[in-house]
Amino acid sequence: MLSLSYLYNFEYLYSFYIKFLADTVLYLQNFALYISLWVLGYLLVCCVVYRKYARRLPTRTRGALRAKRVLIVVAHPDDECMFFGPTIFRLCEQGADVYLLCLSSGNFEGKGKIRKQELWRACQELGVPEQNVCLITDTRLQDDPKLHWPVSVIAKLIQHDLEALEIDTLVIFDRGGVSSHANHSAIFYAVAYMFVEKLMPKSKSNYIFF
Ligand SMILES: [Zn+2]
Repeated sequence: MLSLSYLYNFEYLYSFYIKFLADTVLYLQNFALYISLWVLGYLLVCCVVYRKYARRLPTRTRGALRAKRVLIVVAHPDDECMFFGPTIFRLCEQGADVYLLCLSSGNFEGKGKIRKQELWRACQELGVPEQNVCLITDTRLQDDPKLHWPVSVIAKLIQHDLEALEIDTLVIFDRGGVSSHANHSAIFYAVAYMFVEKLMPKSKSNYIFF
């Protein structure tokens, strides 16, 4: 009689344990499903809000390049659109102060005057204020793919702007000048010369080469 009662109690406890286990697993499954649905919903809302509003936020909020004062150095009018257009547009859109230094009027085909006007119009479209655009007319920096521009002259111009405008980000051509134009490459060599001659401002700066 005692052993029967003991057996009965054991079976009861065992079935209770199994039921408890099954209920716990079911509860955890439901809990995980519930949480994942909430997380998914939250992420969806974040995506929608980001796509709708984030583009309007200023640079400091979004980080990006962390560029606040940017100097872009080009050789000829139209370089700013052909090679740096998306970069300039994006930086302006993000609230950075963008300055453009153009080292010649691009008079190779005698259209310097027109190209000069086009430069200002293009910059206006890209979001660069007209007072931030500077075009150099120097007999040593004539638009000509066969002409090697003196790097010390370019370096002096860049150094002046970096210091006077308190630039934190410098954007220039890479060694190949993208299109292999000697005037483009000269800007890269001028900046390399500045590093060698220790003409770069001591403050922290970003350097971006295209
Ligand atoms: Zn060019």
